[in-house]
Amino acid sequence: MELVIENVSKTYANGVRALDGVSLTIGTGMFGLVGPNGSGKTTLMRTIATLQEPDTGSIRLGSTDVLKDKEAVRRVLGYLPQEFGVYPNINAVTLLSHLATLKGITNGTEREHVVEGLLRRVGLWDDRKKKLGTFSGGMKQRFGIAQALLGNPELIIVDEPTAGLDPEERNKFLNHLSEIGESVIVILSTHIVDDVAQVCSDMAIIREGFVLHKGEPQAALDEIRGRTWRKTVAKPELDEFFEKHKVLTTRLRAGKTIAHVLADERPGEGFDGADPDLQDFYFMKLWRVNGDGNGGGGREGGNGKDQSILERDGHVTAVDSGKGR
Ligand code: ADP
Ligand code: MG
Repeated sequence: MELVIENVSKTYANGVRALDGVSLTIGTGMFGLVGPNGSGKTTLMRTIATLQEPDTGSIRLGSTDVLKDKEAVRRVLGYLPQEFGVYPNINAVTLLSHLATLKGITNGTEREHVVEGLLRRVGLWDDRKKKLGTFSGGMKQRFGIAQALLGNPELIIVDEPTAGLDPEERNKFLNHLSEIGESVIVILSTHIVDDVAQVCSDMAIIREGFVLHKGEPQAALDEIRGRTWRKTVAKPELDEFFEKHKVLTTRLRAGKTIAHVLADERPGEGFDGADPDLQDFYFMKLWRVNGDGNGGGGREGGNGKDQSILERDGHVTAVDSGKGR
């Protein structure tokens, strides 16, 4: 089974062009769609999930025309939306059973069996009698996968499932997600590159509705291998350092800034060769650090908007300075 997205564009009524000629072919396995906030991920996920229409373009799932035959898509779709609300006063087993009925599992014995299987699978069987309102963020998201798996879907879409989870919950969630079979298509949309690095075998990077890159994470790392360098930089020197070098990412460790820099050769004193990580690649693509015609953008001429990188509490954040949102 393949999901083929061709030239999909969407401009909202307020003039925001959320998708700009998106073409992607997605096979079975875990596919990561990564991009900063506002890059069009949810718009694309909702469009594939038949919840909204694009202006132009086509989407095909196997032999099904997704935009025309919505019912056929919905029968094989499992969807965990970005804003997944749960009824706080109902317990997990009751809600999942209710959702299973809606999904067409009307035989009581079969339904009990399915519900138990899914709750065990996502590690919530022991918590099945607890009200959903008492669940942690991670437990809610794992419940979200359980409901997305109802009816053995062939296409599973999870939109920003790890946002707001603490590291332990996030790991648990990703582990459960990656246990979903290799024979189905799973699309994980996220702004966290490490999610993709951890569980995805294929990925695309999207910014401002435009696909900047598509390929296997391993190939992405190979593309920058030998060109990433690491240096610990003291705070007073940071400004000059940013001016002088193509800084990909910065991380705070014990109060010191460790910068990763892109360069064909060792950029100077005190630099060590760094193992490239997917975040380095991501920021190379997002941020036009180039000038070497290699990194960043990938879109000829660009659109005149700049990407800057801010560091907060050791987290690397891309801030789009161009779009005023
Ligand atoms: P992401 O999920 O990557 O954060 P979205 O698809 O939610 O991106 O949004 C893409 C762009 O479209 C953003 O600029 C957002 O503000 C805008 N947008 C999203 N939904 C709507 C809407 N219903 N009406 C108008 N603009 C929207
Ligand atoms: Mg979103």
